Amino acid sequence: MSKIKKIVLNENEIPEKWYNIQPDMPNKPLPPLHPATKQPVGPDDLAPLFPMELIKQEVSQERWIEIPEEVREIYKMWRPTPMFRAYNLEKALDTPAKIYYKYEGVSPAGSHKPNTAVAQAYYNKAEGVKKITTETGAGQWGSALSFATQLFGIGLEVFMVKVSYNQKPYRKLLMNTWGADVYASPTDLTESGRKILEKDPDSPGSLGIAISEAIERAVSDETTKYSLGSVLNHVLMHQTIIGLEAIKQMEKAGDFPDVVIAPLGGGSNFAGIAFPFLRYKLTGNKDVRCIAVEPASCPKLTKGEFRYDFGDTAGLTPLLPMYTLGHNFVPEPIHAGGLRYHGASVLVSQLLKDKLVEAVALHQIECFEAGVQFAKTEGIIPAPESTHGIAAVVREALKAKEEGVSKTILFNLSGHGYFDMSAYQDYFDGKLIEHELTDEELHAALKELDTPKIED
Ligand SMILES: *Cc1c(COP(=O)(O)O)cnc(C)c1O
Repeated sequence: MSKIKKIVLNENEIPEKWYNIQPDMPNKPLPPLHPATKQPVGPDDLAPLFPMELIKQEVSQERWIEIPEEVREIYKMWRPTPMFRAYNLEKALDTPAKIYYKYEGVSPAGSHKPNTAVAQAYYNKAEGVKKITTETGAGQWGSALSFATQLFGIGLEVFMVKVSYNQKPYRKLLMNTWGADVYASPTDLTESGRKILEKDPDSPGSLGIAISEAIERAVSDETTKYSLGSVLNHVLMHQTIIGLEAIKQMEKAGDFPDVVIAPLGGGSNFAGIAFPFLRYKLTGNKDVRCIAVEPASCPKLTKGEFRYDFGDTAGLTPLLPMYTLGHNFVPEPIHAGGLRYHGASVLVSQLLKDKLVEAVALHQIECFEAGVQFAKTEGIIPAPESTHGIAAVVREALKAKEEGVSKTILFNLSGHGYFDMSAYQDYFDGKLIEHELTDEELHAALKELDTPKIED
């Protein structure tokens, strides 16, 4: 019998609704608080930043939310994305485990991020927004939103974390090609940027700083809004199209995952693949382990504190109840730029606190090793972020071998690494450092927080 390697769906199998996990959560997420009053934020507080439809999605208790026809039409450019059975990797690992991966790198920007970028651009356009501001770390989000906003004729300003701006010139050019203006953050265009530069003219920047800059720009203009590529509930919901497609593909393969794995920066691709499967567990139908993988140098889920904190450095965002390393935390400039964020999504944080999902922190050298093994066996060169997921898959597959049990592992190959080859160069040259956040660094960053603690 010939083996099925690639499990595909056709265009009319693109899901018609996104999955909102909130109604199925046993403990609802705590409300975001206003940065000044410390009272729960209402829709009006968020209106200067986001279109009303996205604000409604943020707090919606509807389980299924219709994907607009125009968004589904654009999704057809690259969706449904393929799922593969990683036979060659299984063989190389000599494991009894079955390994499947969903490949999101086939999108124009090369990652899962256009799934929400297109949806967000659509809702902004529908409400008459002329320009959007945003931040980007590795450049994945900035390029996804550049692609999406130009399709809808909306302008875009991107504040790109300086260390990535210098490491990844091609990501910047991708954004320019799609018509966006890109600045190396911290900039002197904003109050938040100028404050940081005064203290440290050589600041490598951070996502937290770039978010402050983008928000400051957005609130200073009536027809400009702000957009976030991860963390928020509506962003995670848009990404559930990944898992909803994956469920149909696993059905076609006659299988169901025991373990679902994805890298975690803010939580969007992890939620995207995991939440639709987690629904089976929350409703008591099937057990499935969902594992989020973070870098050892930015371990908010495994070492951070569950408490209210800002999403940005300057304290302009609402306070979010999440696992955090502190909003002043500036992570080491490791290569997985998309995972260098001090906090995590509120939904993922609550689920982790309730022990419904798991988290693991890995060193970047182990991740690149796994990434190279994956490239050699399966062909695709993974994004540095995605290698974190792969390394966790390798661990699970080797554990299955040790225990002599078969299990089915599904992971999200969140993006390709074709614009990240300098990171591979550093790995081959032995220049990657084995950095792990120390307890002193951790406590220093958390000690500065004066935001409300959450009692158990
Ligand atoms: C941005 C990014 C991530 C991490 O962000 P999440 O919001 O946690 O998904 C992971 N992989 C790739 C390829 C990315 O671009």
